[in-house]
This record gives sequence, structure tokens and C-alpha cells, in this order.
Amino acid sequence: MNKALKIVSILEKEIEIDWFLKHQDPFKVLIKTLLSQRTRDENTDLASRRLFSKFRNAKQLAKANLKGIETLIKPSGFYRVKAKRIREISRIVARNNGRVPRDMDGLLKLPGVGRKTANCVLVYAHREPSIPVDTHCHRIPNRIGLVKTKNPEQTEIELMRIVPKKDWIKINELFVKFGQRICKPVKPLCYNCPIERLCEYEDKNLK
Ligand code: SF4
Repeated sequence: MNKALKIVSILEKEIEIDWFLKHQDPFKVLIKTLLSQRTRDENTDLASRRLFSKFRNAKQLAKANLKGIETLIKPSGFYRVKAKRIREISRIVARNNGRVPRDMDGLLKLPGVGRKTANCVLVYAHREPSIPVDTHCHRIPNRIGLVKTKNPEQTEIELMRIVPKKDWIKINELFVKFGQRICKPVKPLCYNCPIERLCEYEDKNLK
């Protein structure tokens, strides 16, 4: 078993992945991921709750007043730019009968959608094998020596090379939760880490 596979199988035993059980509306996943750009999780949740309590779908948001969207998503960073993008995306999706693209090329054509956002929609809404690479998903594989990359795009390519395709869909969720609970950016809990023996980080916190 290669190292990447060992790490995935250990983390899988430690970390529950519950989102598979829920159906997630692709449009809401897309907008929420857009709101999460450069924004803390709690502010993303607040902004998306406020937005979707007033507008339930793309058709309604397509006709929304821009200032109204800005006010609702204000907890999110860069809310003015995001409000414009959200309304544009809503118009495109509404014209497409509410359907959100199921492929990378189609998603990348939407305003403000980069690879991370597109991959999130593919995994969390359409359940297609993809690897969204956010800060945790870039930081942790580099820290533990699984990859040596300079940016999230390179990390995505490397992870797709070393992790079997059937496991791609779980990677983001596993590393995000692992990064929040154990392998934190500062003072990781190495003394309590299930993959400590496989980790090459030189500055482990083993006290
Ligand atoms: S040993 Fe420490 S640095 Fe390595 S994966 Fe575990 S928590 Fe992260």
C-alpha cells in the first residue's frame, strides 16, 4: 500500500464523513463556496443563511436588487464583488432552467469560479471524483511530505497522481477536518496524531 493510501485509510477510520448522506442543492453549494472565498467558516455560514432565507433559488436571485444582495452577504469578505458575481451566476443558471454545470469546463465559465470552487461543486453537489484544494488541503500534504508543491493547482495535480481515483471525493473533507482538529496550522497536536509515524514534518509538537 502506498503512503497516500495508508494515510487516507487511517484518516477515514478517525474522521466521520457525513455529507454523503445529505442531498446538497448544486446551486446552493456553488453560491456558498463562492461566499467562502477569503472568508472564515462562521461568516460564510452566516452570509449564506441570510441570503438563502430571502432567496431560495437562482430564478429568485436573478431578479434581486444588487444592494439587497450586498446587505445580506455583508459578513462575507469582498461582498460587493461577490454580490455582482452571485447575480450574474444566478442569471446564467436561471437561463439554464436552474441547472448548474456538472463538468469543470462549464463551471469555470461562470464568473468568479476558479478550480477550487468548481471542484467543490463537483464533489459536494454532483459527487463526481475531484479534489478541491483549499488551505488545509494544500498545507497538510506538503507539511507531512506527501507532496512538494508551490500552489494549490500543483497540489491538486500531485494528489490526483498519488491518490486512487475512487478516494478523490473524500480527500478535501478528510484534510479539512484533520486540519481543524489535529494538524492545526500553529501547534499541531502531533502527540495525539494517528498518522504521526508516517509524517515527515520536522517540527513536530510531541509534548
Ligand atoms: S504528526 Fe503533527 S504535523 Fe504530522 S500530520 Fe500529525 S499533527 Fe500534522
